[in-house]
Amino acid sequence: MKIVDCGTDFVHSWVIQNRNLTVLVDTGYAEDWPNFLSRMQAADIEVSALNYLFLTHAHDDHAGFVNEVMQMAPALKVLASKKALSGLRRGQNGPGGGVPDDNAAAVCRQMVRDGHGRHRFPTIAEEQLARFLWIEDVAIGGILPGAAVLALPGHTADSIGLLWDGALFCGDAAQNRPDWPMKTTIWIGDADTYRDSWRTMIDAQPERIYPGHGAPFDASDLEQDWPALAGLKLNPSIKEKK
Ligand SMILES: [Zn+2]
Repeated sequence: MKIVDCGTDFVHSWVIQNRNLTVLVDTGYAEDWPNFLSRMQAADIEVSALNYLFLTHAHDDHAGFVNEVMQMAPALKVLASKKALSGLRRGQNGPGGGVPDDNAAAVCRQMVRDGHGRHRFPTIAEEQLARFLWIEDVAIGGILPGAAVLALPGHTADSIGLLWDGALFCGDAAQNRPDWPMKTTIWIGDADTYRDSWRTMIDAQPERIYPGHGAPFDASDLEQDWPALAGLKLNPSIKEKK
């Protein structure tokens, strides 16, 4: 298995080459498309060679250039949760939730300053949605041999992770920032299901976790943070701009 990051400093676009398949995990913000193209070129991987896009959840910083990827790779199918459908049609992150700590609040404020406060992204047209394979409807092992999909709700209801030959691509179910005390992500929709999803990831015993944001890390880091997660309280003070 070869794993290359074709994303930005902020959000990863993991490209996996494994078992004769090439799979992209998440895109980025809509404006990250040119960066993605140059990173793919540098990695010597054709966009048209991508077999699947695994979308961990329908958020603006992960689903921003799905249309472009689908256009350039006409045979590509997208793997996502059916629960992502409303967000993909709306082109905006879902409401609700809060930040787990002050560090996360600071990043959210920065997003607003960067012009991402409305959390909008290009909608996916119905003819493109026809090329989506909903993980609730398919047997993932028949598509990506040896792979499993983990339901990881909490950050969002539609959050899913891809566990493939020991590597877990967890989207925003966890995040790794070197200066942060915990691997919690910056926005949590529901604290209880978020906590349960950490247990799901720990119990799946991945060899390495590849988050949407930050460097890869070991599952033992989640185990270490697990006791503190019991006291997780969300601060909804950062309101989304409509
Ligand atoms: Zn997210």
